[in-house]
Amino acid sequence: MDGSAESLRGYLEYLRDLGIYDVYRTSDPSDDPALAAWWKSVASPVAPPASATPQRPANSSVPAPQRPAAPIQRPAPSPTPQRPPMPSSNRAPDIVITPPAAAAAPPPAYDFDQAPAPTGQFAPPAMPLVSFNKLAPLPTERVAPADKVAALQKVRDTIGDCTRCPLAYAGRHNIVFADGDPNAELMFVGEGPGADEDASGTPFVGKAGQLLNNMINAMGLKREQVYIANVVKCRPPQNRTPEPKEANTCSPFLLQQVDIVQPKVIVALGATAATYLLGVKQSLANLRGQWHDVRGAKCAVTYHPAFLLRDPRQKGEAWKDLQRVMVELGLKPPARS
Ligand code: SF4
Repeated sequence: MDGSAESLRGYLEYLRDLGIYDVYRTSDPSDDPALAAWWKSVASPVAPPASATPQRPANSSVPAPQRPAAPIQRPAPSPTPQRPPMPSSNRAPDIVITPPAAAAAPPPAYDFDQAPAPTGQFAPPAMPLVSFNKLAPLPTERVAPADKVAALQKVRDTIGDCTRCPLAYAGRHNIVFADGDPNAELMFVGEGPGADEDASGTPFVGKAGQLLNNMINAMGLKREQVYIANVVKCRPPQNRTPEPKEANTCSPFLLQQVDIVQPKVIVALGATAATYLLGVKQSLANLRGQWHDVRGAKCAVTYHPAFLLRDPRQKGEAWKDLQRVMVELGLKPPARS
């Protein structure tokens, strides 16, 4: 890492894709018993008890340690020569020097068991995490295949020229609704549009989109056969992670898209998509390799293609995730020519 802001941001995104969010936040010392004990000792230094002082044996032949020399007596300062009084009109106000207060007693040791809830920069983010399953009642009937295009268009019309969250004012050019087949059995959910998507109005069209296309093709499908959407539909500035307020405001639209498409399998691409679909904030390592339920569909979690571009070593792991999806959908990889 060369230390530039760009590389630092890339490193933070790398950690975020792994589900590590709080690298920038100082941890609460009460979370760590060892740190708490250290903090206690620092906050309230205690002199060792007299009995703890090592006693010299009475008949020891070891010479007694030399006592430190008596403190150096400083000569009393000579009296300050008195200045002749100035005329009152030219005199600066008298400076009153307050003698230093007596040394304050050390504060009592901090009791972390009685500590109030952390506030300020230590406060946990106000992020009401609710899974898509709990966000609204599950649909009682499927939308007829012939009606899905119109139903999705109705959702798009509801979004309109949306200004419901701050991303509306963060320089977006297009609201990126979705792409693909409304009757798809497989749905991919990403985090939010990037610069290319913002410019085109279509999700996953940049480099990450090209990699997603390759992943879809490797599964024996074409991009037009799947449905692709994001948690937020407007580009966060500098491609930062959507704030909880933004994601929570926009998620109901994605929820309606899921309920209309009703795919058999949803693949959550990256930690942000998994966080909001599942209503949990865990590392990808915890969430991968198992099936989750999202609105009646089986949900697999894997790496975001943008992360795979930064760390291609994880492509094999992502392929394992997609192979489980292929088994579930009865897909076979295309024959090599
Ligand atoms: S991100 Fe979603 S909620 Fe926010 S302005 Fe865009 S469409 Fe509206």
